[in-house]
Amino acid sequence: MSQTSDLVAARVRDVPDFPKPGVVFKDIAPLLSDGAAFRSLVEDVARRYADQVDVVAGIEARGFIFGAPVALALGVGFVPIRKAGKLPGDTIASAYSLEYGTAEVEVQADAFAPGARVLLIDDVLATGGTAAAACELIERGGAEVSALEFVIELGFLDGRDRLADRPVNAILTV
Ligand code: AMP
Repeated sequence: MSQTSDLVAARVRDVPDFPKPGVVFKDIAPLLSDGAAFRSLVEDVARRYADQVDVVAGIEARGFIFGAPVALALGVGFVPIRKAGKLPGDTIASAYSLEYGTAEVEVQADAFAPGARVLLIDDVLATGGTAAAACELIERGGAEVSALEFVIELGFLDGRDRLADRPVNAILTV
């Protein structure tokens, strides 16, 4: 394991049966509240993508927490991918299925420059449905997904399989 994955492993708290029975919630609050660990994680991610991406996109809400400081460290812009109904103006939407029902993510239609190389960031890769829908938005918006970066991957859910051959990295896979 790398030093950064050790940091994450030590500072992410497992909360059983939240938000519902059977789910082990990965609580990133202890990681965020440790300033040195948070900075080290952001710097580690930014170092790996220096000069390789034009923009960072983060998925609401916890993808914003990691995505925005990575964008700042890289000196590129940040695009929020939001839950449906939050963004003004022309938007592109993508629906995806959850265990019960469906959800929808949206991005502003003019968010990406044509051909922009996008680094997509979220906290947890679980089934991959959210990230796959976000990739679809980026690509329909005329940009390309250069890489996907997650703090934690729940490997047993095989979320990567839904992301086709796009490059995926997780700091810690459990
Ligand atoms: P999925 O679409 O199944 O890959 O779920 C990913 C989204 O749900 C991410 O935005 C996560 O923040 C959240 N999520 C899913 N499972 C968990 C979990 N066990 N702990 C914390 N967040 C989760």
